[in-house]
Amino acid sequence: MTKPILLVAAAALVDTDNRVLLSKRPEGKQLAGLWEFPGGKVDPGETPEEALIRELDEELGIEVCDTCLAPFTFASHAYREFHLLMPLFLCRNWEGDVIPREGQEIAWVRAKRLADYPMPPADAPLVPWLRDLLG
Ligand code: C5P
Repeated sequence: MTKPILLVAAAALVDTDNRVLLSKRPEGKQLAGLWEFPGGKVDPGETPEEALIRELDEELGIEVCDTCLAPFTFASHAYREFHLLMPLFLCRNWEGDVIPREGQEIAWVRAKRLADYPMPPADAPLVPWLRDLLG
């Protein structure tokens, strides 16, 4: 079976305490209950950065500028229905307070604790990269 490619942009938002933001996928969505790096689908005509800026505003109410998004690494996973490609951007600067706007649960997590949070299969391999970076 051939599968489409789904492009999703995600962010490791890192606060001044060196903690990373995780967002819990809500009930009713695929992979509900798993903790993911926030972000979302890149719409046609959008760059990953544009999509991420839009999603972070919609989901968390924060304003991020594109120069604050540092390309960090790539995740990929062959899900049953699609191949997911997911660039992960590192972001330490944003405007506004993080407020979950879609009723989702969020957590600020130290790098060494990230592995305690069950993640979608695309997100989990990103954890060692972040542990190396953030200690
Ligand atoms: O968030 P949304 O449901 O639009 O994402 C589409 C799909 O991308 C999800 O069903 C999930 O399979 C995948 N995804 C992921 N990790 C993320 C975001 C999305 O694996 N951080």
